[in-house]
Amino acid sequence: MAARDWFGCERIEAPAAARELIEAVHTVPHVAALEAICARGGARIDADTIAFAGTWEAALRAAGGAAALADALLGDGARAGVSALRPPGHHAERERAMGFCFFDNVAVAARRARDAHGAERVLILDWDVHHGNGTNEIFHADPGVLFLSIHESPLYPGTGPAHDAGSGAGEGYTVNLPVPGGSGDAAYRSLVEHVACALIAVWEPQLVLVSAGFDAHRDDPLATCRVTEAGYAGMTASLRRACDAVGAPLGVVLEGGYDLGALSRSMAALMPVLLADAAPAPEELDRHPLAEQALGRLERWWPALSPRRSASGRSGG
Ligand SMILES: [Zn+2]
Repeated sequence: MAARDWFGCERIEAPAAARELIEAVHTVPHVAALEAICARGGARIDADTIAFAGTWEAALRAAGGAAALADALLGDGARAGVSALRPPGHHAERERAMGFCFFDNVAVAARRARDAHGAERVLILDWDVHHGNGTNEIFHADPGVLFLSIHESPLYPGTGPAHDAGSGAGEGYTVNLPVPGGSGDAAYRSLVEHVACALIAVWEPQLVLVSAGFDAHRDDPLATCRVTEAGYAGMTASLRRACDAVGAPLGVVLEGGYDLGALSRSMAALMPVLLADAAPAPEELDRHPLAEQALGRLERWWPALSPRRSASGRSGG
């Protein structure tokens, strides 16, 4: 990012999140426990989640940066932006740190959009190769946050089956899109274009956030999906078109991605598309069978997404 002069972005240092921003999505004991662990020098929280003394400030700033992104997009009129911080967040549940994650940064940003900016509808697309179990849990019963996750299955953390569609008033507002190992650009791009963007068109969110992990990349060592840089750029192009059509700003929040070359090349491919003055021209994309199946499942809550209806719509024009 620095080598490309940050793609012309205005750079803002991430502020530490105010405690109440974190406690809007996590329990008071969870926040206090991490503070205490870090104050005494750190501890291993689970097999792959280790807190050090500096983790407290890093986690506060990762959450604060995501909240500042929501402020920039909804308060200051920016059309697109990125929160490029670690530690990642999407595995952190209301009351539990796990999977390298302490606070759910994208959830803090969505909550900030709702509470401080009056956004009634926030859509989160999680394309990290792992299921965003934390975000899934936090907004499970909330019809104001539509959460979609594309994730390799089976894979850590084992959550996110297709039949988990939310609960209570939030039923239909959790959209789990598991994909088999080896899935690549065709499946990912179609799920974004034909499912996520179709939901953006019918639901008209006031903000779209991406939980952007880059560990579905074919070079990533933690999973077996085969997405390329061009795939990430293509998914971003789809989102830009859909967001522009409904007037929603688009914010990208970094999650996982463990091959640093793949991560930086993917970000470099995505940024010009994200930040372009105009959304790229539409492309004709084949509808993948996984998208077809997902649209069939969603028909119950989202009749406008019926695969029959959109298929006939497409052939008609
Ligand atoms: Zn991941």
